[in-house]
Amino acid sequence: MGLLAGLLAHEAGLRFRILERDPEPRPHSRAIGIHPPALRLFARLGFAEDFAGSGTQIRRGRGFAGPGAPLGSLDFGLLPPPWNFILTLPQWRTEALFEERLHARAPGALFRGITVTELIEASGGASVRVTAVGPGGASRTLTSRYVLACDGKRSVLREDAGIGWRGGPYPSRYLMGDFPVGDSPGHGAPGAVRDHPAAGEPEGSRGHPEATGASPPADPDPLGEDAAIYLHPRGLVESFPLVSGIRRWVVQEEEAPPTPGDLSSLVAVVADRCGVTLDSRTCRMFSAFGVERYLADRFWKGRLVLAGDAAHVVSPIGGQGMNLGWLNADEAVTALARVLRGETSPQEALGTFERRARRRAREVIRRAEQNMFMGNRRRLPRLRNQVFRLVLRTPLRKVLARRFSMHGL
Ligand SMILES: Cc1cc2nc3c(=O)[nH]c(=O)nc-3n(C[C@H](O)[C@H](O)[C@H](O)COP(=O)(O)OP(=O)(O)OC[C@H]3O[C@@H](n4cnc5c(N)ncnc54)[C@H](O)[C@@H]3O)c2cc1C
Repeated sequence: MGLLAGLLAHEAGLRFRILERDPEPRPHSRAIGIHPPALRLFARLGFAEDFAGSGTQIRRGRGFAGPGAPLGSLDFGLLPPPWNFILTLPQWRTEALFEERLHARAPGALFRGITVTELIEASGGASVRVTAVGPGGASRTLTSRYVLACDGKRSVLREDAGIGWRGGPYPSRYLMGDFPVGDSPGHGAPGAVRDHPAAGEPEGSRGHPEATGASPPADPDPLGEDAAIYLHPRGLVESFPLVSGIRRWVVQEEEAPPTPGDLSSLVAVVADRCGVTLDSRTCRMFSAFGVERYLADRFWKGRLVLAGDAAHVVSPIGGQGMNLGWLNADEAVTALARVLRGETSPQEALGTFERRARRRAREVIRRAEQNMFMGNRRRLPRLRNQVFRLVLRTPLRKVLARRFSMHGL
């Protein structure tokens, strides 16, 4: 979030510094979906085409009730061009593209290996100070007129400002893995994979140590560059194409599984619910995660403004949390620029930011909950699937395409 916020601050003509704890970028592929509203924002910043050319453009989502049981498809081409697709790009690649542009436009603005440890004077006074510790443990105090906290869901800055944090976990748990697919249209052969960290490199919360990346999977990819959603009676499965012949699989675990899911559970669920054979030896990233929602009580206090997961955490089912953070960071930087140029009062600009950003966050939380609910294991899966099949045959499918691609947010 901080990298995009820096690019936005540069666009607004602000002087800024970014303090980042990690000395090096982290090679994790966590968030992959980039939606049309974010692409429009990137177009304004002059780099949407570069992003679009670096990832996979999903133009169709296909629904299934189970192996070989199609429900219909959703055409994102129905959305207004040119951003009538959902782009997938591993998060490490997205961050690398931001960082390259930041170095080019605002050289020296990003300081890596610096951990912010304390916020001093969140309210009152003409400035705000933070204490930060650099390599070797040297501590420094920095002063600025405003601080934009982009330090994630465990935000030290939010806590130091005494801003409340409400929410909690949902009951569902998910398993997620990235696997190479065969020679499918637009995909490279598995042996030619370059745009993903090499097998065995740390990726996501639990890298798969035995991964070799050498042998092709048993099945070629029949889905090509389409996304797929399986509304199976035993739970949801989502699947998305990534660059360089990789496909991501996300499966909902059965309620209260007897043992926590592992890579072999993921492979077994995909075979059972989708009829697709994955080779666990080729897994590039595996992660087991719970889902949660949180909202900060306030999005700004005095001279501290919150952005990204520091302000709101959304269930990743539907893949919109990072995009929400970008859209709200744009609102935050626009508000700060107006205040710093003396065009308006902090109360007016940041009050408007808070109202708009909170409304958007609530709507994204609601949509993510509906996505989870739609995919949950349920008593009447046939009825749910009949409704879904019908919707995909009526003009309502355009409404669904807009909802899945963050239109109107
Ligand atoms: C499994 C999974 C899949 C997801 N998929 C999607 C998706 O497809 N699309 C989507 O839109 N969203 C997705 N999300 C959500 C998305 O990953 C997050 O919303 C996004 O990463 C939040 O970015 P952030 O920069 O606010 O926080 P973070 O990603 O947590 O980054 C915080 C940064 O602040 C730094 N930092 C923290 N504390 C300090 C400190 N004290 N001093 C200095 N630096 C500090 C950290 O090093 C880090 O770089 C997914 C999430 C999960 C868990």
